[in-house]
Amino acid sequence: MKSLVQVYFPRRDLTLSYYNDAFDLHRGDRVFVEGKLEGLPGRVTAVSYNFKIRLADYKRVIALADTDVRGQFYPAGSHLVTFDADALAPEKVRTWFLPPTAEDGAYIVGQDGASFPLSDLSSLGADIAVAERGQKYYAENRVAYLVLDGASGCAIVEGTKPYEVEFTYADGQVSGLVCPCYCSCPCKHQVAVLLQLRETLSLLEERYPDRYAPGGRFAAVSKGAFLTCVLDGREDMCLTLS
Ligand SMILES: [Zn+2]
Repeated sequence: MKSLVQVYFPRRDLTLSYYNDAFDLHRGDRVFVEGKLEGLPGRVTAVSYNFKIRLADYKRVIALADTDVRGQFYPAGSHLVTFDADALAPEKVRTWFLPPTAEDGAYIVGQDGASFPLSDLSSLGADIAVAERGQKYYAENRVAYLVLDGASGCAIVEGTKPYEVEFTYADGQVSGLVCPCYCSCPCKHQVAVLLQLRETLSLLEERYPDRYAPGGRFAAVSKGAFLTCVLDGREDMCLTLS
């Protein structure tokens, strides 16, 4: 149904009106819009079905995040982890952070097959300034999402823009590490992801050895992102703590 919605953008502390004819929107929904705030997630604060506007004056809502999350979540440091097979699937979590890609925005991935131990990040070869920025990102919990399914992993890092970092991890070795930021050398996003992976794996090993074994699946989301993306604005859920 056509609607006119108010969208609040926390990063700009700004509320603007958008026209919507593509989604069934409700207060609390997390959305992306076109126009000058393209790429920034916003939250629907009001929906109106009674309006008369000139279309040319309005930008549209172009994506609705799928924040319908179910499952069991366990604390692991700064993050919550789940071992449920479907909870926090990358296809879903991607919609929380990443605006839809344009048709010509497909990624091409090239990989050299080299690997290095997760225990020795110096072998990533990041220069010192980059390593320090990555360390800062990690400490600020900017690795909002991390999933490792078998050997195949991906993570979303919230920098000035969100980036999805992909990697392979097996037998203590990292390979195929790629980040789509415009940096041809090892970047701060990669450093932050590896530090987060190291922390989360060591917490899992220590606390949940019966729930996660290498080769299995875990997904982690930062407590901050869980609050902002999943809990805020949702009124149709039940939270069970034990
Ligand atoms: Zn990067």
